[in-house]
Amino acid sequence: MRFSRLRLTGFKSFVDPTDLIINDGLTGVVGPNGCGKSNLLEALRWVMGETRAKAMRGGGMEDVIFAGASSRPARNFAEVSLHIDNADRLAPAGFNDHDHLEIVRRITRDVGSAYKVNSKDTRARDVQMLFADAATGAHSPALVRQGQISELINAKPKNRRKVLEDAAGIGGLYQRRHEAELK
Ligand code: ATP
Ligand code: MG
Repeated sequence: MRFSRLRLTGFKSFVDPTDLIINDGLTGVVGPNGCGKSNLLEALRWVMGETRAKAMRGGGMEDVIFAGASSRPARNFAEVSLHIDNADRLAPAGFNDHDHLEIVRRITRDVGSAYKVNSKDTRARDVQMLFADAATGAHSPALVRQGQISELINAKPKNRRKVLEDAAGIGGLYQRRHEAELK
């Protein structure tokens, strides 16, 4: 499974549809302060099912929608699409019938978020589980926020263990156990 393209429409500062092509190897994003580098990383986290507005640096989930600028009116929805190359057929069960996966999340003002996988309506939980099983996802240690390195250095051992567990890909198992215990 490999991320191959991220498309943002009306998401934060990316009002017009913008494609980020993700090639093999390391992808660097460079640009002046405030040009939207962190917004790109947040879009990636958001499409994988992030539910905490704070992780999106917003007060509410709808704050990810383009809020308008002096020359552009605000938008009513934001959409992020993530293309995944699944030629190695390593996607988790239930998502492994295709060589390509396209995950789309759209949030509409006063309506909320909806997800599609290859054009089919999908529950948020199933999208989150797809990425949890693939050892990535909104909370993946592979996505390093600004300031996160110093947080990790100062973290309590228990919190640091959680980072290692997520990196090892057992986050999905914990989530399932937690849900089983609630039933
Ligand atoms: P730095 O180098 O300082 O970390 P950056 O490239 O990471 O900067 P971001 O934080 O990604 O920049 O982008 C910030 C910009 O996004 C600001 O100009 C802010 O006004 C804009 N922005 C954030 N949310 C929205 C929104 N909902 N609508 C319009 N613009 C937004
Ligand atoms: Mg930044």
